[in-house]
Amino acid sequence: MTAAVTAAPPAVVTSTADRIGPLGPETAAAGPPAASVTFVGGGPRTVSLLERLAASAPELLGDQPVRVHVVDPFPPGGGRIWRREQSPLLWMNSVAEDVTVYTDESVTCEGPVVPGPSLAQWLAGVGRQRLVQAGLGQEAVGLGAQDFAPRQVQAEYLRWAFERAVASLPAQVEVTVHRERAVSTRQRDGRHLTTLSSGAQVDSDLLVLAQGYLDQRPEPTEVALAEAAAAAGLTFVGQGYTADLDLSDLQPGETVLVRGFGLAFIDLMVLLGQGRGGWFEEGTDGCLTYHPCGREPVLYVGSRRGVPYHSKLGYAVADAVPVPPRFLTAQALAAIGDGTRPLSYATEVWPLVVKELTFAHYRRLFSAHPERTRGDWADVERLLTRSGPHHPDFRTAVEAAVPDARDRFVLDAVDRPLAGRQFADHADLSRHLVEYVSADLQRRADPSYSSDRAVFDTLLTVYAGIAAAVAAGRISEPDRVRRVEGEFHGLFSFLASGPPPRRLAELLALHRAGLLHFAGPDLRVSVHDGAFVGTSAAVRGEVRARAFVEARLPRVDVLATTDPLIRGLLGRGELAAREVSADDGTPLGGGQLLVDGRCRARRPDGSVHPTMFLLGPSVSGSAGAAGFSRPHFNGPGLRQNDAVARHLLTLLAATTTAGPHHRKDTTHHAH
Ligand SMILES: Cc1cc2nc3c(=O)[nH]c(=O)nc-3n(C[C@H](O)[C@H](O)[C@H](O)COP(=O)(O)OP(=O)(O)OC[C@H]3O[C@@H](n4cnc5c(N)ncnc54)[C@H](O)[C@@H]3O)c2cc1C
Repeated sequence: MTAAVTAAPPAVVTSTADRIGPLGPETAAAGPPAASVTFVGGGPRTVSLLERLAASAPELLGDQPVRVHVVDPFPPGGGRIWRREQSPLLWMNSVAEDVTVYTDESVTCEGPVVPGPSLAQWLAGVGRQRLVQAGLGQEAVGLGAQDFAPRQVQAEYLRWAFERAVASLPAQVEVTVHRERAVSTRQRDGRHLTTLSSGAQVDSDLLVLAQGYLDQRPEPTEVALAEAAAAAGLTFVGQGYTADLDLSDLQPGETVLVRGFGLAFIDLMVLLGQGRGGWFEEGTDGCLTYHPCGREPVLYVGSRRGVPYHSKLGYAVADAVPVPPRFLTAQALAAIGDGTRPLSYATEVWPLVVKELTFAHYRRLFSAHPERTRGDWADVERLLTRSGPHHPDFRTAVEAAVPDARDRFVLDAVDRPLAGRQFADHADLSRHLVEYVSADLQRRADPSYSSDRAVFDTLLTVYAGIAAAVAAGRISEPDRVRRVEGEFHGLFSFLASGPPPRRLAELLALHRAGLLHFAGPDLRVSVHDGAFVGTSAAVRGEVRARAFVEARLPRVDVLATTDPLIRGLLGRGELAAREVSADDGTPLGGGQLLVDGRCRARRPDGSVHPTMFLLGPSVSGSAGAAGFSRPHFNGPGLRQNDAVARHLLTLLAATTTAGPHHRKDTTHHAH
């Protein structure tokens, strides 16, 4: 389905084939030739690119007409992840005040800053009426800045932001939305001919691929497990967006083994509990009771760590600002080696990360809670700076200066809370986990542990520092895949990207209702004697089940993508993707599409496509730019979008002035 939308007036985005505006194919021939750009993907990234196009258009575009095509089978704005058609029970895992698609004074970009509301401001202002009109008034009642909005609400925010961006484009820019998949693209005479799933074709001067997380084929180990399960007549649910999975084969009352304790698991837990009809009741003491509907399966969940991600912090610190790094600075990294050679992540980067986080913790503890410390911060600081957190002198000093063990920070222990523990059986493990999760919930809601907040804020700084080192080519590809995207991203997600506290309270209530149990750390899953068998070296006994869910998103590996457009480009050698192997030749997955510093696609011979742009998690140099930007934090995604949008405008302006060889736009409109 295709819909054309003009900028102004009116800024109405339709989902029909209606075309509004000056640049329909009928009128295009009469005026000057239009330059054109196709965006494959209509998610948040494209929303922000369009907003940035509008911001800089008055300066860079001149008055030539432009056609913008947005191709996505899902509604533009939210796209696939943030579509309106999904369970109202699924929430964001960012609080509303931490989500924006707009620039502010913190964003260091060339284009003009054009303020716009964060999700929280939108909810408190213009969004309220909009949500009522969209039938989401009930969902939005009482949602505040510190709340986790339902994804459906975020869908409306992004849809609004899309329409606002379209409305603020100059009048000579027409936006056409194609509600279908792009299946291939080829270059002809320097132009991009993109074929859609209906067979329609979109012809444009410039092409931007902003496709987000690409679908991937399952990993060999997953295929083997799925085959063994099929042979034994078992139910196997593989990796994917939980919202897209078919969970109907998971039977009421049956044991389901689940591997993965992150956000995909939280979505699964919600869909199989409340989603099937159960409900929570809050007691006067705030404790939740789950009332089953009788259709829930019984979950046994384990993972590498064996515990759920830490709860999101339940309090804010006034006037939070980005924390400047103290150890992991650009200067410190520049001073290592000759300033250009790849760094050793394990010996040169990671120690700085640990130091940075340890410093953040103790500095906050000494300044905000001095009554729980002894002696001088300056002494502790000096020892940490000089010797590092693992040095015996530092440890001795901390033991003397910080009497309560709960106030000490040992990153390894925070990262692997079950390391070294043994449990007599699953009941023993359950008792421990209930205590662990309850303590986590209490602590993460308690501002007297604001040193946790300092670590959280510093993790964002550290992420930016590491992303800059990756972008500068100072992290080797194996280290990027194994250490940065594997270990560091895992730690970041575990500490800083966990579920809303309410979800962990629900998890405990489901456990009390007998519907959720724990399977242990380093969970191994195999098929034996007609059942899935889950074992953990830390727990005596095993879990047997006739159903299994791999509750996680696959790690990005563009070489495993099933997206036909990207596969076609790779197969024809038009895009370069690096296959990543360890030093011993073991393939590591984690392949990324290669771009230059301006997000232009690279060919395998290293040359650059001057008119094809790639952005998103499958693209090199994208570390840290995937999620929503946080207001006042100079979001890397916003900076990247601004730079790309300005480049696009410059090219579009140049294309239109080159009018004579510019061929007529040959957009074919689908049904
Ligand atoms: C389940 C889930 C929850 C998340 N929650 C949060 C959160 O709470 N907070 C946060 O900050 N981040 C969150 N994220 C991170 C998320 O990546 C970003 O929020 C954001 O969606 C990224 O935007 P994007 O436009 O780059 O990619 P996407 O949102 O993935 O959009 C890409 C779009 O491209 C389209 N597309 C792909 N291939 C084609 C094709 N061949 N033809 C046409 N269209 C195509 C897709 O349909 C999709 O709509 C979450 C991610 C997931 C998967």
